[in-house]
Amino acid sequence: MPTIPVLCYHSLNIDNNEYQGNDHVAFAQDLRLIHQLGRRIIPLQWLVDWLRGRRPDSDVAGGVVMSMDDGSWFDFHDMPHPSCGQQRGMLGILRDFQQEVGTAQPHLHATSFVIASPQAREELDQTCLIKAGWWGDDWWQAANASGLMTVENHSWDHLHPTLQQVAHSRQAKSDFSQVDNYQDAKQQIAVASQYIQQRCGTAPRIFAYPWGHTSDYLLEEYLPYAGGHGLEAAVTTEPRVCHRQDNPWRIPRFVCGCDWKTAEDMKSLLSQ
Ligand SMILES: [Zn+2]
Repeated sequence: MPTIPVLCYHSLNIDNNEYQGNDHVAFAQDLRLIHQLGRRIIPLQWLVDWLRGRRPDSDVAGGVVMSMDDGSWFDFHDMPHPSCGQQRGMLGILRDFQQEVGTAQPHLHATSFVIASPQAREELDQTCLIKAGWWGDDWWQAANASGLMTVENHSWDHLHPTLQQVAHSRQAKSDFSQVDNYQDAKQQIAVASQYIQQRCGTAPRIFAYPWGHTSDYLLEEYLPYAGGHGLEAAVTTEPRVCHRQDNPWRIPRFVCGCDWKTAEDMKSLLSQ
């Protein structure tokens, strides 16, 4: 029975130009390590299809899934970081790797989970980045059209603590488990999906819980039964490999910099 690791990166994690402290460097090295170890990279959607009984074990056996959260320009564009210099965007890293290995990784793919609200991203660009307009959504459609990346839903505004106002009835910040009722869930999830669909042309199918936080309401009521959001799976940050009997609304993921820190860690993670 296959067990599949789902990996999560943050392209905004740039503290230096080493594996430890730069998710672009880690992502580029991990792609090559996964390949060298004879594993194949498969789209997250394939894993969802498998959990939903639409794909056989053989489609995902030996697979590793790549994803990234928060969706700034660093996912897509090559960017000049103010202190660490020029950074290859995550899509460019996928393209470089594809050039290197040719057709040996025919299903190479990464999922980019983006924050939907344009106002929230504009404010986060001011509070978390250098106010250069690096959190726009102009790249979403091109990312989807690249065939190497799919844009999916990482909530309306992440209930991010540096936002003045968040879309939540009690102004709960930093804790997505507070999304425990229909109105808040609709705003954070369904409205986010609608916006992403408007900008991309395709509707999101997968949700990434901000900080990996779930709630009983989301897991047991809203996501499986409420409808109107168009989703069929969700990813957490529970650090373990995915099994076929896992709940599609609670897919585990390992986070770079937290659950593994070095290429050696990645090697042992892949041997689990
Ligand atoms: Zn996030």
